[in-house]
Amino acid sequence: MLSERIKHIGVSPTMKIAAKAIAMRAQGIDVVDFSVGEPDFPTPQFIKDAGKQAIDQNITRYTMNAGTMELRKAIAEYLYKEYGAEYDPAKQILVTNGAKQAIFNVIMALISDGDEVLVPAPYWVSYPEMVRLAGGRPVIVETHEENGFRLTPEQLKQNISASTRAFILCNPSNPTGAAYSQNDLMELAKVLEEEEIFIIADEIYSRLVYDNFRFTSFASISAKLKERTILINGFSKAFSMTGWRIGYLAGPKEIVEAANKIQSHSTSNANSISQFAALQALKGPSYEVGRMVAEFQRRRNYVVQRLRAIPDVSVTEPQGAFYVFPNISAYFGKEHKGHYIRNSYGLAYYLLREANVVVVPGAAFGSDQHIRISYSASMEQIEKGMKHMAEALRRLKTPTRIKFVQLNNYRTKVRKKAPLESKINYEQREALIAEAEAHLKFN
Ligand code: PMP
Repeated sequence: MLSERIKHIGVSPTMKIAAKAIAMRAQGIDVVDFSVGEPDFPTPQFIKDAGKQAIDQNITRYTMNAGTMELRKAIAEYLYKEYGAEYDPAKQILVTNGAKQAIFNVIMALISDGDEVLVPAPYWVSYPEMVRLAGGRPVIVETHEENGFRLTPEQLKQNISASTRAFILCNPSNPTGAAYSQNDLMELAKVLEEEEIFIIADEIYSRLVYDNFRFTSFASISAKLKERTILINGFSKAFSMTGWRIGYLAGPKEIVEAANKIQSHSTSNANSISQFAALQALKGPSYEVGRMVAEFQRRRNYVVQRLRAIPDVSVTEPQGAFYVFPNISAYFGKEHKGHYIRNSYGLAYYLLREANVVVVPGAAFGSDQHIRISYSASMEQIEKGMKHMAEALRRLKTPTRIKFVQLNNYRTKVRKKAPLESKINYEQREALIAEAEAHLKFN
């Protein structure tokens, strides 16, 4: 019934577990939601006012497909001021319905059947799916905790093949919060300069960095690479404007033109009211962004400290975004009240059942040893959630499995550990979610 294209695309696991949390809340259960992918702050007042003004002034019609010239100019000015990266607003910038559509348009514009796209793992859930939708092949390159979840130049080099067409770099990263310094980016650039591949630089979390980390855009790293870099950013995270749906891409003319064409035949221009509000967001004061960043940093510090106090949980301190990605694999093979933990799905659903806390299983991001905790929640909620999580993990114990075997005609007992699963494919994922959900008290 369905197209070939859609057959291997899964429903976002983030959405599945979030839906469970909503169902629990509807039943009156006090759930702490650590699965949130958006800032919990309201959109700043002056931006909301601009939205209202846009309606009153009848800015409610189609705009140019690529976005209003005013907004594109303001974006170009911003990119020049912040990164010294020059873009022609008429030809090199496309305003999109969120950064998600910017990435989708670029992938559709660049990727042909069989093309490989390098995706460092842990990755944002939509990258591999978008590559597949375009007929390409995501090549997942695992990064490691000891490197702060950053891809090394050696790993990049090793995974480039004759079929590699593009490389997606999420900086700072969702789900790990890892950020690349200017030096890290220059090392990656040395490898990329020798190759003929495009770089899709997803910098949606660029404004959310901590401890005076200096964010560097990939577009400012090398003039040679700027010709092959498509910069992705937007208003969702920095200005708490997720629902307004405004993102953008900036890059070489031909690619922007192709992405514009794709958008013109699918969604047309981004919302006119939101574009007007986004323009004010760029022109207006930035102290609200600063305040949000300070609060996120405070929460990050707290969450990292609480996680480090839990036995056998290891945490890499994130420098950006609003996620922490702790390694919880020491709890695999443990059990409490019949809930046996075999993987990150099992652990996430165990935490939902035992601690009323929603986290996202790391397997959804290509890393089953971890869970993703979003600290986009009030400090009060975070304190409660962390406390319940720590208690629930403490209750997990190594089971003594008892199995009867025939031995010289006597029945005797042996202890056996069940095997653990570490690689989870699409088919298994659905089954694992179903199994984990079956353990919940409600359905
Ligand atoms: N890239 C990353 C890494 C993200 O986490 C998100 C939002 N979750 C997006 C892109 C898309 O953002 P939006 O479409 O809301 O601008």
